[in-house]
Amino acid sequence: PAILRPGRFDRKVVVGRPDVQGREEILKVHAKGKPLSEEIDLKQIAQTTAGFAGADLENLLNEAAILAAKAGRLFLKQEDIQKAFIKVGIGAEKKSRVISEKERRITAFHEAGHAILFHVLPDVGPVYSVSIIPTGSAGGYTMPLPEKDEMFNTKGKMLQDITVSLGGRVAEEEVFDDITTGASQDIKQATKMAKAMVTRYGMSENVGLICYDNDDDEVFIGRDLAHTRGYGEGVATAIDQEVKRIIDECYAKARQIITENRSVLDACAKLLLEKEKISQKEFEALFETDHVVL
Ligand code: ZN
Repeated sequence: PAILRPGRFDRKVVVGRPDVQGREEILKVHAKGKPLSEEIDLKQIAQTTAGFAGADLENLLNEAAILAAKAGRLFLKQEDIQKAFIKVGIGAEKKSRVISEKERRITAFHEAGHAILFHVLPDVGPVYSVSIIPTGSAGGYTMPLPEKDEMFNTKGKMLQDITVSLGGRVAEEEVFDDITTGASQDIKQATKMAKAMVTRYGMSENVGLICYDNDDDEVFIGRDLAHTRGYGEGVATAIDQEVKRIIDECYAKARQIITENRSVLDACAKLLLEKEKISQKEFEALFETDHVVL
């Protein structure tokens, strides 16, 4: 803030994060001096690294090079980059942690739930890989492969994102008698997005085109203590109701899609338990054949 005080700089140049094409070019720069095997597809790596800045991409290739060196190879393979991605992007894959068979089963169905929704809903996905290998605090992950970066998000896509987030919990409910705490991050993310739709983006007719989210001044310490809501009880209630309505509707949609694709859910979970990690090809093949329900 001191540097940015009026009069110090008369111009600000914002350098945004690179888009998919930019990422590919940056990857090419950092790949110089690193022998790559022929199968490596920098374009595909660029597609899977949405949100990465140049430094993240550099870090990704450096980590991959370390993994190749550890394996005693003089060149990088696609596999090294995938492992490095998980380390850089999601947190080191912990293959060593002992997890119970029950935990693995729950995670497999949970991730299969997310994956099916990514696949079925039109504006999200496709699924690039699904894994039940624990990473950081998560039991597994489902990674989409967005086809392009969009400048704006749409209401339809945001609703689909919320629906996908709820898919893990819905799948758990479908299959098991009990539910787990594993969906807490998903629920947090879904709530945050639904709230932003209502209070920030004017996407709720009942609440209207008014910004009720004054969180821009978060640089001030103690903001939460001094934070006063700029609206009355009536509006607060309307916002809560709208957020709940959005979540409930997305939940119902998630439930409907997962019920309709129950045989795929079972087949996907089974495959995950076998292989721990499945590729886009393996996942999409599940939709093409008829499955015997377990
Ligand atoms: Zn989840």
